[in-house]
Parts: sequence; C-alpha cells; structure tokens
Amino acid sequence: MRRAPIFIMKINKFKIHLGLLFIIAVILPSFLLSGIAIRTIAREEAFLEKRLEESLQAETNHVAAVIRTELNQILLELDNVSLRVQSQDSPATQASLFKKQTKLAQIPFFISSQREILWPSSRHIKSYAEHFFLEWVTDFFMDRETTPVYQNIALAYKDKILEDAPDLNTLEHNNEKDNTRQQSRNKTNAFSKFSRGQQQLAKNIGDQYAPAYLSQNEPIRQQVYQTAKQSGQQVMKRQVSPSKSISFKQSLITEEQTDSMFIADQLNFSEVIKDSPNGLIPFIVKEKLNLLFWRKNPDRSIVGCLLDQDIVISRFIKILPPIYSDVRILTVLDENVKPIIKADTNKTRDWKRPFVAAEISELLPRWEVVALLTEPDQISLKAQTTGLYLWILIFILLFSIIGGGSMVLRSLNSEIRLAQQKTTFAANVSHELKTPLTSIRMFTEMLLDRRQPDEKKQQQYLRIMLSETERLTRLINNVLDFSSTGKRKKTYQLKEINIVELCRSILDAQQMRLEFHGFEVTFSSVADDIRTQGDEEALKQVVLNLLSNAEKYSDEIKNIVISITTKDQFVCINIKDRGIGIAHQHARLIFDEFYRVDDSLTTKKRGTGLGLTIAQRIVGQHNGQIIYMPHQGGGSVFQIQLPIIREE
Ligand code: ADP
Repeated sequence: MRRAPIFIMKINKFKIHLGLLFIIAVILPSFLLSGIAIRTIAREEAFLEKRLEESLQAETNHVAAVIRTELNQILLELDNVSLRVQSQDSPATQASLFKKQTKLAQIPFFISSQREILWPSSRHIKSYAEHFFLEWVTDFFMDRETTPVYQNIALAYKDKILEDAPDLNTLEHNNEKDNTRQQSRNKTNAFSKFSRGQQQLAKNIGDQYAPAYLSQNEPIRQQVYQTAKQSGQQVMKRQVSPSKSISFKQSLITEEQTDSMFIADQLNFSEVIKDSPNGLIPFIVKEKLNLLFWRKNPDRSIVGCLLDQDIVISRFIKILPPIYSDVRILTVLDENVKPIIKADTNKTRDWKRPFVAAEISELLPRWEVVALLTEPDQISLKAQTTGLYLWILIFILLFSIIGGGSMVLRSLNSEIRLAQQKTTFAANVSHELKTPLTSIRMFTEMLLDRRQPDEKKQQQYLRIMLSETERLTRLINNVLDFSSTGKRKKTYQLKEINIVELCRSILDAQQMRLEFHGFEVTFSSVADDIRTQGDEEALKQVVLNLLSNAEKYSDEIKNIVISITTKDQFVCINIKDRGIGIAHQHARLIFDEFYRVDDSLTTKKRGTGLGLTIAQRIVGQHNGQIIYMPHQGGGSVFQIQLPIIREE
C-alpha cells in the first residue's frame, strides 16, 4: 500500500524533468533558430542593398571617368585644330577656318601677345552670340575680372590626406626598409622618401587613393574642407543628395546637402593660363555653363574658342551607356539639375534624390552622373513582402514547434496521469471492497456467536449487512459498468418509475447504516409520486454513488439531506452534505474518469474516481444531467435532473 505515494513522487519528478527537457530541447533552440533567421534576413537585406549601391556607384563612377576622358579628347582635338589654323591670314579667315575644322568651336577667338582681343573684333561682329561673348570675356581676358576655377579637393590636399592614410604609410614603411639610408621622416610630403620612379608610381597611387580615402573617412574629410574654407577657397555644395537607400524612410534622413569634391579659387586669366600650354575653362553665365578652350602660342599670343555646348553634350550622349536597365535609370545632370538625356517616361522623377551619384570633373562643375532605381517602390515593396513572408514563415515554424511540442508534452502528461490514476485505482478498489466485506463479516460473526440476544438489534445488524452488500454491489457495478460502457453503450430496461418511491427505498435501506456511523439523514419531497422513464437498477446506482460520496466526504458535520423538487419538465433529486466541499478549480473536472481531487482531505478517503463518471453517463442516457453546486456554509450539493412523465 505504501508504494503509491513513492510512485507519485517519482512521476512528479519525471514531470519536472520533462518540462526542463522541453525548454532545453524545444523552446530554447526554436527561439535561437528564429533569432538567427531574423538576423540573417536583416543582414541579407542590408547586404543586397549594399551590393546594389556598390555596383551602381561603380557604374556612375565609370561613366564619370568616361566623360572625363571625352573632355580630354575634346581638348586634344581643339589643340590640334588650333595648331592647324595658325597662318599669316587675317584673324577673320583663321576664325572661319577654325570653325570649318571642328564643329566644337562655336566662337573662335584670338588674343595678341599684348592681350588685345583680335577676334571677335567689335567691328566685324555678326551675331548676338559673338556680341555677348565679347561682353562676357573682355574684362576677364584683360585680367580685370576673375572667374572661379575648380579643382578636386582630394588632389589639392593630397598630401594632407595621405599623411593620415594607413595604407600609404605602410607603403612608405616598406620602402624605408629597402632604403635604410633615407632616415628623414618628413610627414608633410608623403612621397619625399621615394626614388623618382617610385615617386611617380606613388603619385599615381596617391591620385587614386586620396579621393577614395577622403570620401570614406569622415573626420579627415571635415578637416580638409575646413582647411580649404579657411584658406579662402569656395567649397561648393552638391546639387544632389544621393539616398543610397531603397527604403523611403531611411532616405529621408540624409536630406542635407553634401559638400562637393570641387573647390573654387577666384583667378584671373593670367593666373589660369600660367602653368600649362592649353586648357579648358568652365564659366557660368546666366546660370548656364560654358566651356572656353585656350592655347598659348610660342609668341605669347593666345588662340581659343567658345565650345558649342550642344555639340559637347551630343558627344557625351554618344558615349553614355543605355539610360534604362531593369534596375536603374542612369543619366547625366547638367548645372541646372536637368538630365541631358531625358527618360522617355511620363513619370516625374526627383533628380535631386538619386540612389547614387558621382561628380564628373572640375571642368563640369555641378554636373553629376546619377542613377535612380527604376521602380524603387516596387523593389522596397518586394523586399518588404519577402521579409514579411519570411517573418510569417518563422512565426509559423516557431508556433508549430512550440505548439507541437506542448501537445506532445500534454499528451505525455495525461498518459502519465492516467497511469498514475490506474495505479491508485487498483489499490483503492481493493480497499473499497474490503471495507463493506469487513463490516459484513463482523456482523455475521456476531450473529453466529449469538452475542446479541436482542431481536431488534439482530434485525438492525441484518439490515446493515444488507446495505453493505448493496454498497458492494454498487462498487462492483461501477467497475463493471465502466469497463463495459467504455466499449459499447449499455442498454437499459426503461420503464415508468416513481422516483420518489425509489429514493425513499434506497434511503430506507441505507439509513440505519448511516445513523450507525453517526449521520443525521433527512428526506423530503414536493410530491409523493413523480414519474420518470428509467432503469430502476441504473438510477439506484446513481443515487447510491452520490449518497456514498456525501457520506465519504463528510468530515465533522455528518448531515445528509435528500430533497426532491421539480423545475419545469424536470424532477430534481438534491443530495446535500456539509462535508469538505469541492474547490472551484476541481469542480468542472470531477466528472472525468479517474479524476480525484488531489488534496490532503480527499486523499485520506479511498475512491476509484469512477462514481461520478458513471452516474453522469447513466443520467445522460436517461436524457437528464447531474450538476454540482457548492453548499452555502460548506459542503456540496449534487443535483440529478431527470425528465418527468406528465399524465395527460
Ligand atoms: P471517488 O471514488 O474518488 O469518490 P467520484 O467520481 O465519485 O470518485 O468523485 C470524484 C471526486 O469528486 C472525488 O474524489 C472527490 O474529490 C470529489 N467529490 C465527489 N463527491 C464529493 C462530495 N460530496 N464532497 C466533496 N468532494 C466530492
């Protein structure tokens, strides 16, 4: 008998282990996996965006480089033409020759060594263009006016930038090892320790390296721009601010204008042409960018021309890659943020907010190569929906893992509970059988030994024995019923019975025994004859089960009231006790098979956990029901409701 509690303790320990196992083997890994999956998604999205940005940035940079090459080509062509037109002819003839040789030249000009403008001459002016041209450039050519001349800040401050650059310092360091004699460490010029060839190489590397380093390194960038401003150079603001982001929300953050790569010095004509034999000068008149070609002759006279901007642009257009691809629209924006080739779509585009952009050249200030995403909304929507699908998938997986796991755990739990209940059931049945048997045996012995000469008492003993046998029968019936009703529906011998009569007869049989055990039993009914359709034996078993529970679960106050009332079409048999009662959380479970309230008060009493289950089944098959209500002031009330047969 002592084995049951040890078994229950083991089961409880096992349940705790199972719970821990569930957390460690199912919940933790699934949360961990979801975490990893979510992080991977976020990273993947960022990575894809970065890749798209990098590839489009590379493309815009490449296009900018191609345009720079084209500008060099234009310079070269104009230089050749200007050489060829040198003759003893008059400036007018030379000018028309110049124009004939190249479409690029819109207005050729000639300046004498004494800085006299020989052509266009005010006396021969034919067009408005020439007139305006003279108006714009005369003061400049005479050094009476300056113009902003642009320079790449990264190249202008290359030394300052490279002082900081770690990679180039490594280059310098390696070189130092080879050439141990050169010990001086002059940081202001990063190339001073190189041999001439090496210096050229380092200069080339530096020319490529400095702009990249400047654009990546924010502190040095700020320093360099600050220095440029302090030394009176004008730092331009770029006209576009690349968003570098697909999603709309993020692109709003980087609204502020960025500094241009180009800084401007105000120079007069002599200063501009000082250091080189030829060149191009950009100058903006009335918001329009013009390019001026010039070349110095050995006799210090100057030949040049105003470039035909339309021709220049058409040459750029020829070398541009196709404007459309599936992903992007790539175009060049001029000084007024207008695309030089328009996208043939009705959609208005915010050219100032491209995905990526690249400044082109100091000769084309404010010009930018820009790439816009063809369908940014769709890309971001696509990304969002893909993200959403993945999220949903993760959640479904997470829920199914945890849900499935907990279902397995629950079924395991109920299996364990069933096993536990079955074990206690076997122990309890034998004990329940033993109690009435002991009682019967005791009274039989007493009667056999004739220890009680009083005939009345003998009668009483016999009645108690009868009631104990009824209890035994009920118990055996419960067990038999349970095993048979589980498999097939039991068929009842239904007939019209007087339920008041039935209850009274049950009580008559039990009263003596109950009173013998100290119970006060009362019976009342609203009528003497209330009829219902039922199986007498089965209904008797129901009432006995409830009566036996009232007896079993009464503690100090041993009071049982059986009252019969009617409600609508039903007769209600109420069995009230003043016993230990049933806590709210157990009340809805007591009709489940094998269920027994697991507390110190109940476990003292033996039971099978089947009494109420069987009672409920029987009443259910009689079209009625049993309900439980707590008894006010302590105890329980069980009400059996059965349909009444009314006489017509
Ligand atoms: P048992 O054989 O354990 O009595 P039952 O199915 O008859 O099985 O009852 C199920 C559980 O309901 C009991 O274990 C007990 O905890 C509770 N119960 C039933 N009747 C009463 C009552 N009258 N007072 C208190 N608890 C009761």
